[in-house]
Amino acid sequence: MNDLPDAVAVVTGAGSGIGRATALRFAEHGARVAVADVDEAGAAETVERVRDAGGEAVAFAVDVSDEESVAALVEAVTEEFGGIDVAHNNAGIEGEGGPITEQSIENWDRVIDVNLRGVFLAMKHEVPAMRDRGGGAIVNTASVAGLVGAAGLTPYYASKHGVVGLTRSVAVETAEDDIRVNAVCPGVIDTPMVERFTGGDAAAVEETVSPQAMKRMGTPEEVADAVVWLCSDEASFVTGTALPVDGGYTAQ
Ligand code: NAD
Repeated sequence: MNDLPDAVAVVTGAGSGIGRATALRFAEHGARVAVADVDEAGAAETVERVRDAGGEAVAFAVDVSDEESVAALVEAVTEEFGGIDVAHNNAGIEGEGGPITEQSIENWDRVIDVNLRGVFLAMKHEVPAMRDRGGGAIVNTASVAGLVGAAGLTPYYASKHGVVGLTRSVAVETAEDDIRVNAVCPGVIDTPMVERFTGGDAAAVEETVSPQAMKRMGTPEEVADAVVWLCSDEASFVTGTALPVDGGYTAQ
């Protein structure tokens, strides 16, 4: 497993869940990893885990919704590692639930700012860094919520549909620069985000996984493996796709 030798990988939201799993997988595949998160303690723990496993990683603080912060991240990673080859733009929040008639504008703005503006800003600043290297690969974390609708979490679903649109459009814009841009669309994955949803209650977990044909949660590692594949040369002709990693959720 050394198919990203010496590549520099940036992962946002790497202090927890799916991003942490991707950071670990990137390192296992030979990449040097920039572990970026607004939660600095979470990022530090991920770095420790990567180093314990024999990999190379450095923690960076970033708020993906803030352009100055994202620009500073790209600059700092370039200074630390000499450039950027692959990026997993993964930071996200679920926001508040409830019918559209009860959704606050504050919740709408916050979810869109982190989930959609965050991915926009990341790509805006990563693409020039990748052009400097002669190419690269970007994977954005969308969701099954970017492919289908559901009641009760409209800002989140809208933000993830936006991530799919951004992914396809930037893929077309950067294809001739040898920069591939794809999205992963996880179903229900066993992370702190889902734990917040279900409160760890067995009946709530069962109800949450019921739309998935496999009737179980996915693991963060199952998403990370898809991200690593999309960033590898094995996916050299794959760009602009939104890949479900969802145990059959969207197959039905
Ligand atoms: P998580 O809550 O475990 O991790 C999210 C990480 O993002 C946290 O470390 C958090 O600190 C970070 N983050 C939040 N706001 C940030 C900001 N403004 N700037 C930088 N970092 C920020 O959740 P997760 O399940 O690992 O989610 C990762 C991504 O996967 C999210 O985009 C989420 O929407 C998406 N997703 C999750 C699931 C699931 O079932 N867990 C399903 C589909 C999509």
